[in-house]
Amino acid sequence: MNVDVKSLSAAVVDDALALLAAERYIDVGRAVADSIIGALPEDLTEEQFGKQFALRLATRVQRTRKGKKKATIAVVSLSKGAGQTLQGVLDKCIPDDWIRKSNAVGRLITGKIDDVKQSRYIWASKGVFREIRDILIHDGDSVMTVYDKIASVNVHEFAHRLQKLYPDLDMMFQSIVRRRLRDGGKFIDSQYADLYPQKGYIEALPLSLERLLGQHFDYLRDRPELEVPVWGQKEFLEKDPELAYLTIGVLLRWKE
Ligand SMILES: [Zn+2]
Repeated sequence: MNVDVKSLSAAVVDDALALLAAERYIDVGRAVADSIIGALPEDLTEEQFGKQFALRLATRVQRTRKGKKKATIAVVSLSKGAGQTLQGVLDKCIPDDWIRKSNAVGRLITGKIDDVKQSRYIWASKGVFREIRDILIHDGDSVMTVYDKIASVNVHEFAHRLQKLYPDLDMMFQSIVRRRLRDGGKFIDSQYADLYPQKGYIEALPLSLERLLGQHFDYLRDRPELEVPVWGQKEFLEKDPELAYLTIGVLLRWKE
């Protein structure tokens, strides 16, 4: 990377270091993706490919448990089954170390929604929610919605909590988005660059985890008018291998 020394600012250095760090994870992710794809039959539909890829990736993530006890996410359920649904989703695909880290910092205050458009995540602080305010919320807790029908929506919202737990991890994703915008590069989903740029590119990590781990199929069947990806893994790996490999790499190797 060529940077004019006189123009070096802390932000430029942070971005450059994050991009360097990302290279390691991208290499890991590429190797893992190649090995999973190499073992799959060639004539799979996009949906079959996505299902198989997500499943095999999840199996590798779970293997990193190495005999340790499975982690249970610390939740407060505001509606019946919200915590269980979330646990079921995270169990399948999120590394246990990440769940333990989340628990060490605080709890997830969860409630079910029945319309995906209400999907929300908020880092809780006192006074944010009048309804449940100080009695329930402690510093370090998060409030997030849980949606039964699409697992990936819940992965996405949980990923917003990870951004605060692992700022260096998030920085790798944001730096790639910033570099690509400077270079005039493209994104598979306009939300990477368009949504909330005033807050930084905070959708980069959640969108990547969601697409790689989740499935939108049942949802799409219910709402055919919406153009959401159906098992978007194949498209992600083909059209944006850099972010797809980075996501795989951090799932298997990120520890802090
Ligand atoms: Zn988001």
